Amino acid sequence: MIIAVDGPTASGKGTISKALAAHYGLPFLDTGLLYRAVGQQLALNGGNADVAADALAVCAFPDALLDDPVLRNEEVGGLASRVSVHPAVRAALNQRQVDFANQAGGAVLDGRDIGTVIAPHADVKLFVTASAEVRAHRRYEEMLSRGLDVDFDNILADIRLRDERDAGRAEAPLKAAENAILLDTGDLTIGAAVQRAIELVDTRRENRS
Ligand code: C5P
Repeated sequence: MIIAVDGPTASGKGTISKALAAHYGLPFLDTGLLYRAVGQQLALNGGNADVAADALAVCAFPDALLDDPVLRNEEVGGLASRVSVHPAVRAALNQRQVDFANQAGGAVLDGRDIGTVIAPHADVKLFVTASAEVRAHRRYEEMLSRGLDVDFDNILADIRLRDERDAGRAEAPLKAAENAILLDTGDLTIGAAVQRAIELVDTRRENRS
């Protein structure tokens, strides 16, 4: 079974995807990490994230970079969003994701274009979302708990900018696939959101068999 999970930043899609992978015993790929690795490699090598050739030149980053916790930083997320606009960068990263999705037994992938581009044939597609304010609040609490010095308005502005860039780009924009199931996590605890996601996957599977 292939499960495609898409949605904007801080929607809860990562936590939900990991929980689905554990529940169904499937391998999991966080595709955002690939774009984050390109962003970080660019920061290391020097170059402009808005110049396609600069970003393309670092797409062959070493695999070990994917385990570096620095990839989780907000700055790296911003760089990832910028490099992911370039069609050549997306093309360079696509095959790896397609192969992961199509491995024997299936997989869970999360990202922005999994249901639309990487695995349009996925058995189940979820589009996980929540308002920008709710997502900013979550990010704010999470950063506070890590002892970081944070400003709510800056976080909200950053989330809105990322949304606009991800949804507004010409190539593989963030959008729900036609047959995706919408899961708004705004009023749900993370436990309830995971439970709901499992119910949605089970229902979709039953209807298909
Ligand atoms: O999901 P995450 O926040 O780690 O993704 C970082 C950035 O990578 C996103 O803002 C988006 O621009 C890009 N991305 C993408 N396509 C994906 C996954 C992530 O364009 N499948």
